[in-house]
Amino acid sequence: MARLIMKFGGTSLADTERIRAAAQTIARAASDGHQVVAVLSAQGHMTDELVQKAEQIHPAFPPRELDMLLSVGEQISVSLCAAALVGLHCPAVSLTGWQAGLLTDSRHTQAEVLTLCSDRIERELAQGKVVLVAGFQGMDAAQDITTLGRGGSDTTAVALAVLLGARRCVIYTDVDGVFTADPRTHPEAEKLDYLTYDQMLALAAAGAQVLHERCVRLAKAHGLSIEVRSAFHAVPGTIVGP
Ligand code: ADP
Ligand code: ASP
Ligand code: MG
Repeated sequence: MARLIMKFGGTSLADTERIRAAAQTIARAASDGHQVVAVLSAQGHMTDELVQKAEQIHPAFPPRELDMLLSVGEQISVSLCAAALVGLHCPAVSLTGWQAGLLTDSRHTQAEVLTLCSDRIERELAQGKVVLVAGFQGMDAAQDITTLGRGGSDTTAVALAVLLGARRCVIYTDVDGVFTADPRTHPEAEKLDYLTYDQMLALAAAGAQVLHERCVRLAKAHGLSIEVRSAFHAVPGTIVGP
């Protein structure tokens, strides 16, 4: 059974309707015969709002506590989406980063993925469930919650694809793919069908946040192609590959 990693970003999960729409896309992939692991971001601007709350309490918020706080947003998303999937008669389970076994170093707010203890995910997949993993978060050797840097759910998705041996990793987002420039500020920008890792890294270095730079480096190191496509329209997206 082909293993598929799907990732949905914050705008694509911003309200109840969008959570339901993501659940439908996930359920369709599962009923097409895929073993699905879906990585979700926090809804809408939730992470920004949590950062603001932190700044209001203490301008030098301890990084360990910041990770404890910021990881909450993704947990809301996976729980809501798991319930939506069950409502669609698609067996599903939500897992935090640490329940999923994603181990990182201890650099709070900028942690790097070290390894995955995949037993739990494998067990849930073997039981025929869709596994929803909270993006952007992991756990360090001291069992503290860590986060992977803003936009880090993309990196969770690519890391899981690599560590679970999935050959497909699809990043669903709020634009139709990767464009020559930000389509929101450059209406003349054109969608690219394909670009190389290095071309994507150059775009990311120039500020295109459509893919987290670290996820592109990780995909490049393992030769994994990433598909970037719209969460809203069923149109072909962009492949980022060798
Ligand atoms: P998500 O919440 O799905 O992770 P992001 O906001 O991180 O989405 O990334 C998608 C956004 O990236 C788009 O809404 C778009 O405005 C912006 N963007 C910047 N540069 C590009 C580009 N070259 N191609 C596509 N999107 C781009
Ligand atoms: N929620 C986190 C952020 O806003 C991670 C992500 O969305 O990828 O940065
Ligand atoms: Mg993003």
